[in-house]
Amino acid sequence: PMPKITGDIKLENVVFEYEKGRPALKGINLDVKAGQTIALVGHTGSGKSTIINLLSRFYDITGGKITIDGLDIRDVKLDTLRSQIGIVLQDTFIFSGTIRDNIRFGRLDATDEEIEEVAKAVDAHEFIMKLPNGYDTEVEERGNMLSMGQRQLLSFARALLADPRILILDEATASIDTETELKIQEALKVLLKGRTSFIVAHRLSTIRHADKIVVLDHGEIKEEGNHQEL
Ligand code: ATP
Ligand code: MG
Repeated sequence: PMPKITGDIKLENVVFEYEKGRPALKGINLDVKAGQTIALVGHTGSGKSTIINLLSRFYDITGGKITIDGLDIRDVKLDTLRSQIGIVLQDTFIFSGTIRDNIRFGRLDATDEEIEEVAKAVDAHEFIMKLPNGYDTEVEERGNMLSMGQRQLLSFARALLADPRILILDEATASIDTETELKIQEALKVLLKGRTSFIVAHRLSTIRHADKIVVLDHGEIKEEGNHQEL
């Protein structure tokens, strides 16, 4: 069984170098309370993805410390850490199999009812029911038969089912129609509720709703505050 965590996250003077002598992060300090949504913004190469890579320990930090609930993440078993973190990447991962399998993913114990419940919660149920075989429709790898927005909603349903305490989301930049955009905004609200979230944010609506916006510049925090403050 997984230990339950609250989801307070602290970055203390975090330094990271992919290559020696070329820091991608130069002393990041960030205090995130459980349940908060943090929007990471900044120019290309400013360090947004690097921060989210470090949180899930795809790399170990060069200097400083990252803690979750006060525990140094280097002292937490990797499976335990990753079981608490849900990751929704820009290039939504769809594998060949049914829609149901794609939502179920790691939650092999999930019932059909639970799967429909999360699909409904993110408003994906309707489009799924219009597919030739509903939840049993086979999709190809890369999800060719699905639109970008539909793939996003599926990935949100999957993340919701996994129910992690911490959510990392690299927001898609793809342009989608206004109706889908609104759907995704609503679904995102459902998904973020009650979790500590880091979003590499591209949409203004996401940035506006964040508890804290962190503006990165060349590996440093240039500005920090909510939408009113900045
Ligand atoms: P983008 O908006 O383009 O996604 P970003 O803010 O996510 O940019 P990062 O990917 O965090 O930026 O990159 C921060 C710095 O680290 C950049 O200078 C980048 O060139 C460098 N970098 C990123 N990934 C690697 C890597 N795998 N190996 C070496 N350097 C890297
Ligand atoms: Mg990036």
